[in-house]
Amino acid sequence: MTQEFIGYNGSVIVDTVKVALKFKKSSGKADKEIYLQSISSIELKKPTLLNRGGYIKILFQGSQDNNNMKRFRDILSNENAVFFIGKSQYEAMIQAKQLIDKYISEYHQQGSRNIAEISYEEYEKKAEVKQMQFFPKKVECAGCGSSSTLEPMETKFCSYCGARLVYPS
Ligand SMILES: [Zn+2]
Repeated sequence: MTQEFIGYNGSVIVDTVKVALKFKKSSGKADKEIYLQSISSIELKKPTLLNRGGYIKILFQGSQDNNNMKRFRDILSNENAVFFIGKSQYEAMIQAKQLIDKYISEYHQQGSRNIAEISYEEYEKKAEVKQMQFFPKKVECAGCGSSSTLEPMETKFCSYCGARLVYPS
């Protein structure tokens, strides 16, 4: 599911795997797609009395940011920030941040669960392989009834009667 939260010079589009910052052409900024796992911080600045605007800034691994958001034009030109004006846009961006935070925590939970499942399955598989590969078995010769020990997958001939001995699968 994709949800769009509209600001003044662009919007924040959130789905379960990524966040897109989509800017208006007039902003002169390039759109961005940021995957949840690479997000390093989300900064939500409440509108001030001075300019009645605020911003949401999403930083991610490898993003360039001088963190100077003091002047109005710094905010407008910041590549990772969507500027917004007024109460309703601010409330939309609060929702956007909450949704991103929620998806990030779900992502991490699911991620760690998947890793645990995979590693357990792999562990089981390895254990099976180990059993197959490293357990010698005693085999009773069909010809003379003497017992011989066979390595896994080994086929040999009975030292007493010459009958073929096969490692049981
Ligand atoms: Zn034999």
